[in-house]
Order: sequence, then C-alpha cells, then structure tokens
Amino acid sequence: MISVKNLHKSYGKLEVLKGISCEVQASQVVCVIGPSGSGKSTFLRCLNLLESITSGTVVINGHDLSDPKLDTVVVRKDVGMVFQQFNLFPHMKVLDNIMIAPIKVAKKSKAVTRERALELLAKVGLSDKAGVYPRALSGGQQQRVAIARALAMEPTVMLFDEPTSALDPETVGEVLLVMKQLAQEGMTMVVVSHEMGFAREVADHVIFMDQGVIVEEGEPAEIFEHPREVRTRAFLSRVS
Ligand code: ADP
Ligand code: MG
Repeated sequence: MISVKNLHKSYGKLEVLKGISCEVQASQVVCVIGPSGSGKSTFLRCLNLLESITSGTVVINGHDLSDPKLDTVVVRKDVGMVFQQFNLFPHMKVLDNIMIAPIKVAKKSKAVTRERALELLAKVGLSDKAGVYPRALSGGQQQRVAIARALAMEPTVMLFDEPTSALDPETVGEVLLVMKQLAQEGMTMVVVSHEMGFAREVADHVIFMDQGVIVEEGEPAEIFEHPREVRTRAFLSRVS
C-alpha cells in the first residue's frame, strides 16, 4: 500500500530525512517512534503531499508522488491525516466539519454525505454532538471528530501525527480506542505516537527513527523487549 525508497527531505541546507525506506502492506498498522526532532512529522507530511520530496520515491496505493502528472486531489482523498492539534473549523458545527471536504473537494451529494457523516459520528461515539460547535467539546471528543472528518473522504490510508499528545490524560484512552477499532476493521495506518502501550498492542510493525534515519524496525515485541541498537534502548528507557 505504501512503498518508500530512499526518501530525502531537506529544508534549505538542513537535511531532515536522510534516506528513509520502508513498506507498509494493506491493513497493516505501523507505529513510528523516536525523539523529538527526528523527522517523524516530516516523514508523514511527505506521505500526503504536505511537503515536497527532495529525492527518492514514494508510492501510495499506486500513486507515485514524484510523478509530475500526479492528481493531487485524488491522493489527498486517498490519504487521510489526523494531527496533534485537531484543526477543526471553529465556526462550523461538528456535522458540517465532517461534511465539508466530501462536498467541496470530492463533489459528493449533500444527502449521501450527511448520511455517511452521521454514521461516522456514531462510529466515534459522538452521535449526540452533531449540532454543537467544536469549542463545546473536550479535546478527546474534538480529536474523535477529526478522525471522523478524515474518514469522511473514504481514505485508503490513515496517517496520525501524535494524535493524543495534546489531550488531557483522561481523554487519551477514548481516542486510542477509536484508532484500535479502525485498525481492527483493516484500515492501513501509520501512527506517530508516544503511546507505547498502543504500539505494543495494536501495531504490526514498529519503526524507530532518530536524526532522519530509521535506526531499527521490527515487530513490537522485538523492538520493545529486545532492542538491538543502543539509540533505541536509550530512547525506550526514557519513554517507558
Ligand atoms: P519530529 O516530528 O520527529 O519531532 P519534525 O519532522 O517535526 O520532527 O522535524 C525534524 C527537523 O526538521 C527539526 O529539526 C525541525 O526543526 C525541522 N523542520 C521541520 N519542519 C521544518 C520547516 N518547515 N522548515 C525548516 N525546518 C523544519
Ligand atoms: Mg512531530
């Protein structure tokens, strides 16, 4: 579903990604962990065209992101993203936040979109919040709306960039639960997170990044119980 080969990304002279290669199979959940500044967000942003690629290739669901004839609208529809800051539209009610992109970008009919948006709200456990504004919701609830909004475009891949880092501790669990359900339904997911419990339980594969490279990767049990690299061990001893 995702194939990344020797991806480099620089901002001016600063080389942030120094040759990332990895594969994500359909329905796999890959967790990316690593210290702050290691390039995790930049990596995700390169996967959904929020950043241009300096060199290397990224192919997602058959779309070659370096193809000059690439249909960016199709790719953005195919690759959903959830951010640390939920980025909901504050002046729109919850249901309208979920409906806006399918109507404006994917040109779907209002009736179909509305039905689907209500289903998605039910899925994230917020059926009763369709008519309220984001400010009336807790952080965890806003993040669940943001997940529903991303799903409304019917993506084939979902990217999560530290989706629970800005939340009060007591609302982290409800967001992780929605993500776990999504994983169990077979969504292909790449998740940057410091929630090691989630990574251990839900991830099929864990990637440890540091200073713009993949230092180590493998099954969660391997990475968490028997890390091979000194840098991985040092990181894990700081976060767990
Ligand atoms: P992480 O998500 O792992 O904390 P980031 O991908 O956000 O790391 O950042 C990696 C490095 O790239 C950092 O040194 C950061 O300052 C730099 N960086 C990120 N975005 C930009 C940008 N738009 N312009 C210049 N430097 C950037
Ligand atoms: Mg980041």
